[in-house]
Amino acid sequence: MTQKDLLAIAGEYGSPVYVYDAEKIVSQYRRLTDAFSDVSNLRINYAVKALSNISILKLLKNQGSCLDTVSIQEVKLGVIAGFEPQRIIYTPNGVSLEEIEEVAAMGVQVNIDNLSILEQFGSKHPNIPVCIRINPHVMAGGNSNISVGHIDSKFGISIHQIPHLLRIVDNTKMRVNGIHMHTGSDILDIEVFLYAAEILFETASQFKDLDFIDFGSGFKVPYKPGDIETNIEELGEKLSARFNEFCAAYGKELTLAFEPGKFLVSQAGNFLAKVNVVKQTTSTVFAGIDSGFNHLIRPMFYNSYHQIENISNPEGRERFYSVVGYICETDTFGNNRRIAEINEGDILCFRNSGAYCFTMASNYNSRFRPAEVLWYNGKAQLIRKRESFEDLLRNQVEATFDEDVVSEVRKASAKKKVINDGAVVA
Ligand SMILES: *Cc1c(COP(=O)(O)O)cnc(C)c1O
Repeated sequence: MTQKDLLAIAGEYGSPVYVYDAEKIVSQYRRLTDAFSDVSNLRINYAVKALSNISILKLLKNQGSCLDTVSIQEVKLGVIAGFEPQRIIYTPNGVSLEEIEEVAAMGVQVNIDNLSILEQFGSKHPNIPVCIRINPHVMAGGNSNISVGHIDSKFGISIHQIPHLLRIVDNTKMRVNGIHMHTGSDILDIEVFLYAAEILFETASQFKDLDFIDFGSGFKVPYKPGDIETNIEELGEKLSARFNEFCAAYGKELTLAFEPGKFLVSQAGNFLAKVNVVKQTTSTVFAGIDSGFNHLIRPMFYNSYHQIENISNPEGRERFYSVVGYICETDTFGNNRRIAEINEGDILCFRNSGAYCFTMASNYNSRFRPAEVLWYNGKAQLIRKRESFEDLLRNQVEATFDEDVVSEVRKASAKKKVINDGAVVA
């Protein structure tokens, strides 16, 4: 997908718009499965929350992917996209027992991350096998908002609580068929990940009836040229060997699972927006676009970096810009960026806009959420319409106020007076 293709899509579908490159999603999927080709049973559970459009889910289903979900609504989207419940794992945090039961009744693999729910669920449904989410207390992530394996994290059952966990399993006679961890985003140091994996193996060896071990995700992708990323190939080589060794000792060929979100879809996404205004101030030049953090919140929320290109004037002389949105609050996409000269009306492309971009979009400032387009086999397909004014009003219900009643009475009496005066008969 070239800059020209993107420009044509902005012309056809308007701006702002999200565009996803199917080929990139497929090649990332293959990269991951190739890296772990030494493992007999590999299962990739795509993390739906990264990008939940059902056409993206279908694309991944066709590659052989399964799903990782965090809400019953994501489970239902997966089912609509054609996934059999057995191909879905549900890894919620802090949801009600009722929702977990409802998902389990659909035949979806449930992953439980606290002892209270485990005890209640096991007592009521000893025949439904569950996976256990362990917190190995290893911090893999770089950004404290997205590191979930450390000691104060709300995620997972602490490895220090394993004796209690084993007692619950024993008391309820439930079956634990999987062990899981998800240490957070942005794994850079493979040794840290392998260290966490050792903790998981040690935990797994205490459960005799496992089918799988799920190593979660957190693979880092490059955001700009020269950026470091998780070395998937090296991880694949080292973890596969260790996993196969573990299975031999365990006496059973287990399934190795992962739950990548960002790794599969981040780089496939491009967010296109139009420059409404170029504004020179005393210290900088602002390029103000027809979007804001209502559509792409990651720069403001996580301070994340998205490369910005002017696809309308790619050969233009580079200048420095602060690219900002139209929201009436600080709304900065990039400060002091070198971008090919921008004119009002130009289309800017924000790279790495596949994961946690559209799914975090809102209607703040009463704007419509953008359209989504899939680029597949050299052609663009609309996979979500831009919202319309009806969408903003859809669930609103107008209240009735005293003033309305008073004015109705006034209107009625005014009418009566007119009739009595015999001037007008309404
Ligand atoms: C969000 C999430 C993932 C995906 O993380 P990425 O960094 O996008 O790969 C995987 N597993 C669980 C349980 C998650 O909550």
